[in-house]
Amino acid sequence: MLRPPGRGKSVLLAGRRMLRPFRRTGQDDRMKCPNCASPDTRVINSRPANAGESIRRRRECPVCQTRFTTYEIIEKAEMTVIKRNGSTAPYSRERLQHGIEKACRKRPVSAAQIEALVNGIERDAFQNPHKEVTTEQLGRLVLKRLKEIDQVAYLRFASVYKQFRDLHDFNTEIRSLLKD
Ligand SMILES: [Zn+2]
Repeated sequence: MLRPPGRGKSVLLAGRRMLRPFRRTGQDDRMKCPNCASPDTRVINSRPANAGESIRRRRECPVCQTRFTTYEIIEKAEMTVIKRNGSTAPYSRERLQHGIEKACRKRPVSAAQIEALVNGIERDAFQNPHKEVTTEQLGRLVLKRLKEIDQVAYLRFASVYKQFRDLHDFNTEIRSLLKD
């Protein structure tokens, strides 16, 4: 291994368990150091950039302490949504974001929170090799994350997504919310 004695010790001893500090944001986040080619650079911080179109990560090499920046962008052209009737359409971030914004209207949810929400949903939705997601899965991902942010926004989104017909449907959903 490339590490000098001392600093790299815990990593050298390591199996998967000891590597954990470097895997905080997932093993796939690792990127080779541009200075010394060490494979285990650490993410110091990450934040949305270009209005949420990309994620900027500040990284540090644990071996030579070189700091550098990487950008993660989504391969948009490849992302597809499969509709309920089986037809497909290119994924639209704007459309998803608009639906969420509507649900969050006049609620204490910031634009930054919505950006982060959409980024997270995109990451979860298009992990699969085909970069496909059904509208149903997409809706479930929205609900899962919205539930943790704002319950009123969650109910609004659920009422559209689950096609609530009457108060009974709201009541059922609220009961399940209260149970959590
Ligand atoms: Zn390095």
